Amino acid sequence: MFGGPARRMKDRRVWNVKDFKLSSALGKGKFGNVYVAKTSNATVALKVMFKSCLASDAKRTLLLRREIEIHSRLVHKHILRCYGYFQDSKHIYIILQFASNGTSLSKMPFSERETKKITYQISSALEFCHSRGVIHRDLKPENILIDAKGNACLSDFGWSCHVVGGPDDEKRRTFCGTPDYMSPEQVLSKPYDARVDIWALGVTVFEFLTGETPFSRETIEDTFECISDG
Ligand code: ATP
Ligand code: MG
Repeated sequence: MFGGPARRMKDRRVWNVKDFKLSSALGKGKFGNVYVAKTSNATVALKVMFKSCLASDAKRTLLLRREIEIHSRLVHKHILRCYGYFQDSKHIYIILQFASNGTSLSKMPFSERETKKITYQISSALEFCHSRGVIHRDLKPENILIDAKGNACLSDFGWSCHVVGGPDDEKRRTFCGTPDYMSPEQVLSKPYDARVDIWALGVTVFEFLTGETPFSRETIEDTFECISDG
């Protein structure tokens, strides 16, 4: 899996948008778009974000810097590779592994056999993240991409954080993530740790098999009540 593009992308350290031939749009993010892009010898996904949109959101800019720093250090066969980033006057570009089968969200529901395979692969990606002190904090089907061979890759480290070490750092309090996948301790604004990713994986497995999330209700308040009562 790391043969082709990973090795070829590593040969270059400084990139410019002219090195990429952009083709179809893969999706839309809050601050820009993701495109399939070709270099002279590899196909990647290029996430293009507008500085003008980010400028009005200082917190998001900080999170983006953290996302790139954390993601580019995580090299694992079930974590989408982040090859690096570059910028020009108007944009920030993130160079990512291209997952040609898109998000797992678009392929649900899965059979028990497929669910078992994806769960195993994402568990190993999470174990790797946690062993390096990283909590993903936004695990859900949309952030599990499927590559050309049908293997799962954990993506989108936009809400991830690094637990530096020591008892004070091990518990986090930031309220973040996606309501349906949040754990009781997050919903109740209690300190939490890497186990929030395991909870979100449980919700995701339920959704893979049934096409529905277990705690989803009419309003966010009802959803939170259902999660904390659980
Ligand atoms: P943000 O978190 O920055 O607001 P976002 O989470 O909505 O944005 P992404 O998840 O990075 O944005 O990308 C949006 C969509 O583009 C994804 O849901 C997916 O459909 C597609 N996509 C993103 N990266 C890739 C990739 N590497 N390969 C294939 N498709 C991708
Ligand atoms: Mg996303």
